[in-house]
Amino acid sequence: MTIRVAIAGCRGKMGSEAVKTVCNRDGLELVAALDYKHLGDSLAELEMFPSSLDVPIYTNLTQLITETKPDVLIDLTNPHSVYEHTKEALLHNVRTVVGTTGFTDNQLDELKNLAKSGKVGCIIAPNFAIGAVLMMKFAKEAAKYLPHVEIIELHHDRKLDAPSGTGKKTAQMIAEVREATKQGHEFEKETMPGARGADFEGMRIHSVRLPGLVAHQEVLFGGEGQMLTIRHDSYNRESFMDGVVYCVEKVMTLEELVYGLENIL
Ligand code: NAP
Repeated sequence: MTIRVAIAGCRGKMGSEAVKTVCNRDGLELVAALDYKHLGDSLAELEMFPSSLDVPIYTNLTQLITETKPDVLIDLTNPHSVYEHTKEALLHNVRTVVGTTGFTDNQLDELKNLAKSGKVGCIIAPNFAIGAVLMMKFAKEAAKYLPHVEIIELHHDRKLDAPSGTGKKTAQMIAEVREATKQGHEFEKETMPGARGADFEGMRIHSVRLPGLVAHQEVLFGGEGQMLTIRHDSYNRESFMDGVVYCVEKVMTLEELVYGLENIL
């Protein structure tokens, strides 16, 4: 069976890579693109894609769904639009694979309920790279023995949300095996706001944003006289594409929302 795929955010760094990937994989068919600007009627009209790519572009998701009947919507847009896209797709019984990060906890809860009540599969994966998923798993394991943790996530300077979805997810996974603990000196004081990073149950998360970076993370575990560092680097967007394809295939078998690739591998 061929899975009919629509992509939101096709002109972006992740979205354009996903267009290439979906078009080149057996068993997947790209049937539509969702944009919010009208820059052409089809991807073929945008200079960045081959002129043979006759895939219609819509600026209205309901119309896209009605006219092209996708099985799966992949969202690779931004934190301002992803929630509305995901909600609307689920309300129309279209499965979703979301790589965009920046959901609030309330939005996640609402989408979870929506997917469950409608029995529609949805995967939200803050990181599609298998190595990053392993980094999170290893970090969770290490935190059982070395509970003093600081997370440093490093991304390109066009990223809108901080901390990254991967940074937050790592902290949440570690919190499953670690008591909330205040770290650092009990009387420590920031003489510049933000110097100690974000505080998640006492764990500190530091966000670095620089040109040249793609997506990187270090998890540092301190113990008496020792430090363990677990690090993952994505050097290009291709590192995410096997995970995107895996999720598109997997979401066809789901009837609820799954948050995090590690829960379905
Ligand atoms: P990007 O290059 O800025 O791409 C986002 C694209 O979405 C842009 O072309 C933007 O258009 C477009 N867009 C914005 N609002 C839209 C809407 N309402 N409908 C359709 N398209 C819309 O960003 P990126 O680096 O590709 O990343 C996209 C998202 O994926 C970010 O949230 C990022 O954090 C996340 N990400 C996830 C993973 C993962 O493994 N899960 C990996 C890398 C990145 P304009 O530029 O014209 O506004």
